[in-house]
Parts: sequence; C-alpha cells; structure tokens
Amino acid sequence: RVVYVNGSYVPENEGKVSIFDRGFLFADGIYEVTAVINGKLVDYEPHAERLERSLNEISMAWPCSKAELRQMHEELIKRNKLDEGIIYIQVTRGSADRDFKFPKEAKSTLIGFTQVQKLLENPNAPAGVKVVTIPDIRWARRDIKSVMLLAPVLGKQRAYEEGAFEGWMVEDGKVTEGTSSNAYIVKDGKVITRPLSNSILAGCTRRSLFRMAKEEGVVIEERLFTPEEAYAADEAFLTSASNFVLPIVEIDGKRVGGGQPGPVVRKLREIYLDEARRQAGL
Ligand code: PLP
Repeated sequence: RVVYVNGSYVPENEGKVSIFDRGFLFADGIYEVTAVINGKLVDYEPHAERLERSLNEISMAWPCSKAELRQMHEELIKRNKLDEGIIYIQVTRGSADRDFKFPKEAKSTLIGFTQVQKLLENPNAPAGVKVVTIPDIRWARRDIKSVMLLAPVLGKQRAYEEGAFEGWMVEDGKVTEGTSSNAYIVKDGKVITRPLSNSILAGCTRRSLFRMAKEEGVVIEERLFTPEEAYAADEAFLTSASNFVLPIVEIDGKRVGGGQPGPVVRKLREIYLDEARRQAGL
C-alpha cells in the first residue's frame, strides 16, 4: 500500500510520524472515513464539511487547502488502484515538546491511507447483525470526530467478546449511538433515531439517508429511545460510511422483528446502494 504523510506518498512501512506528535500523545486530532466504490468517492462533500467543522470546534488549523485534501483522496485511490473500500484521513495538531497548551510553532500533521473492504456486497447485510447495549462513557463533545477513541475501542471489544457486531451506547437510559455508527429502530413503519446534539456524531450516512428517505416518503422521527423500546421494535439498523445501512436482528440477545432484516431497512439499504452506485458511475 501507498500511504500519504505530510505531502508525500510513500510505501506504508515508510509512513512515519514523530513520537512527539500530539495525536499520539494527547489524541489531539480529528479524522474522517469516506467510502470508495468503483474507484470513486461516495458522499465526499459531507465528510469534508464535517472535517472543517470538527477542526473549527477544536481551533485546529487546516493542514492543506480543501482542494489539496480532495486531491490527496483521489491520488490515494489511484496509487493503490483502490476499487472498493475506504479512505481514512487524520489531522493532528502536529508535533512539539509535550505540553498540554497548543504549541505556537507546530504545523498540523496530515496522514491518509486506504483499506480494501466489500461495501456493496457487505457479507453482514443479508442476515443482519447483533448488537449489545453498553454504558456510554465518552466525553461530552461527541459531535466532534476526534481520534480520542478509547471508549469506543473498549465498547467494540466488549460487543465482539459477547458475539455482537456493534455496541449501542446508553446514557440516562436512552440509546445514544453505536461505537462507530448511528442507531435506528423502526416502529409501525416509522424510523426513530436520536436528534443531533453534542451527544452523538452527525453521521454523513445519516444525513444522506434522511434526504433519500424523505424522497421515498419514509417518515423519520427524531427522538430519544430506550433499549426496551428497541427490543420491542419491528426493525433496527445502523448507518456508517463503511456499512451504509446495515440491518440489526438481535439486541441484547432479544430477536428484533423475528430475527430477520425487515422491509423498511431492506428498502433503505437498497435506496442507499442505488445512490452510492450512481455516484460511483455504476
Ligand atoms: N457515530 C460514531 C460515533 C461514529 O464513529 C461514526 C462513524 O465512524 C458514525 C456515527 C457514523 O458516521 P458516518 O455515517 O459519517 O460514517
């Protein structure tokens, strides 16, 4: 693989940053993950906009121009001949002698790499996945896509150890979101998901799905919901750039909707895939 590090494209074993990088020392950084299909970026703009917002919220400088960032994405696809997968990019506040305060001189670090992944034919989509609920122990600014991911790492590991694909985090008795995805249930044909706030990340997939669902006449109700409501839901699903719309068939060992992906989620996944294929020129 060829990776990007601060302006250079190098073989992955030569891609290095300083041990003093603030991303490494303080998790003082922001990231984005964008899907690639047929060598084309899917929904690139919302990701670039969210990166800008995240950087602004933590007063971090852009490491390059917006055009250069897009160019870096295109170049990584080309150099790696990436057909289907994701591009991960990360910006940190650069490297400087360890001190909590922002360094005066440091220049932002920018890295990027590709990962091959099956997105259109996601092996988990046909049967759906299991989730377990876990306490949401993250900080109060989950709207910022920060690389400070220890809570999601522990949460995903616990879910995995319990035989589940994802952990749904719960705060004050209500589901916030998945460790790396947004969370939804379907009841009486209506899609229910938590409204945007500092408590969750504003998913780019969520945003696109809302637009498509509206066009299809699918009603989305933005409100909090409890795990108990989720157990009793007709359907459940998650969204993320690397899974698009993924059916959930079991929550905390309780089968949802008879343990099969239901009609609403199957339709939403199809609509999403159609749009992704269209953007990819397929
Ligand atoms: N929520 C969290 C906590 C995430 O980490 C992610 C993606 O990584 C999402 C939601 C989904 O966001 P997107 O659809 O932009 O991938």
